[in-house]
Amino acid sequence: MGGHTAGGGFGLLSRKFGLAADNVLDAVFIAPNGSSFTRDTMDDDVFWAIRGGGGGSWGVVYAWKLRLVPVPDNVTVFSVARSGPAELIAGLMHRWQYVGPSLPDEFYLSTLIPARSSSDGNISMSFTGQVLGRPKQLAMSVLNQSFPELGLAESELSEVSWLESAVKFAGVSSVASLTNRQPRVGEYAKRKSDYVQAPISMQDTIRIVQYLSTGPAGSSIQLDPYGGAMARIGSTDTPFPHRAGYLYSIQYAVTWNASDMDRSDGHVEWLRSFYAFMASYVSKNP
Ligand SMILES: Cc1cc2nc3c(=O)[nH]c(=O)nc-3n(C[C@H](O)[C@H](O)[C@H](O)COP(=O)(O)OP(=O)(O)OC[C@H]3O[C@@H](n4cnc5c(N)ncnc54)[C@H](O)[C@@H]3O)c2cc1C
Repeated sequence: MGGHTAGGGFGLLSRKFGLAADNVLDAVFIAPNGSSFTRDTMDDDVFWAIRGGGGGSWGVVYAWKLRLVPVPDNVTVFSVARSGPAELIAGLMHRWQYVGPSLPDEFYLSTLIPARSSSDGNISMSFTGQVLGRPKQLAMSVLNQSFPELGLAESELSEVSWLESAVKFAGVSSVASLTNRQPRVGEYAKRKSDYVQAPISMQDTIRIVQYLSTGPAGSSIQLDPYGGAMARIGSTDTPFPHRAGYLYSIQYAVTWNASDMDRSDGHVEWLRSFYAFMASYVSKNP
């Protein structure tokens, strides 16, 4: 919680309510010399810096006071997979760029593309969705209207409580296990990220999917939609500048386990090469 909020904190509710840091109302901040401050007594630039400027950079936040946001009784959720040749996957990724960031604020639709293709040469990608406060028929009708290529079927959507949706997306088995999570041991990862301001062309999207398919098992990209509330918060209001004009973020990831440690340098090198390859498609400064 401490580092997550101090670094910004993006999640499935961010298109509706902004980052975790955007919802900080007050903090008990301990400066390096041991003095403690609250919102009333700390300088404005300190209160600005601790809300997204990175954990461990300024001092210790002993407590955050956060604005609680309303969540509906039920949300519509889905995780669907689509597979096909590189051109089809690139087509879905290309189209997503126009949909994910411009859906109504209540919609979160991200996509993940793993590197490896199946034995028939097809690539699979998945879409994760959470829709606040709309029954599944209504959510599906909005999604099918704006993204008919995804071809969502009603059977792929379910209505659950918001807490159950947190269970689903955290990848745990029950509500009880949310407060009893064990750290994953023996799993290693290298991640980098970028932000995109202009949709990447279809031709370049095909190149990206083809480059991705050269990655080791365990590598992937995830695209997280911005827009909504993210675009209405000023780019200098907090240290997190990726606001209006930013369509989405890309997370590049490669994961491996302890038995694969001798290949870790190669995995990291591949991720860095992919990141360098992407440079011309993503935002600069910042
Ligand atoms: C698997 C994985 C998934 C992730 N998914 C997301 C995501 O969906 N969205 C997102 O925004 N980020 C995500 N992150 C990034 C995550 O927000 C950061 O790693 C964050 O730093 C984790 O917060 P933490 O509270 O565990 O901090 P830690 O990792 O414990 O600390 C991070 C830094 O903050 C400092 N710090 C911690 N607490 C405080 C405090 N109270 N006061 C001052 N400094 C402090 C630490 O000293 C350290 O420098 C993910 C990371 C991982 C590994």
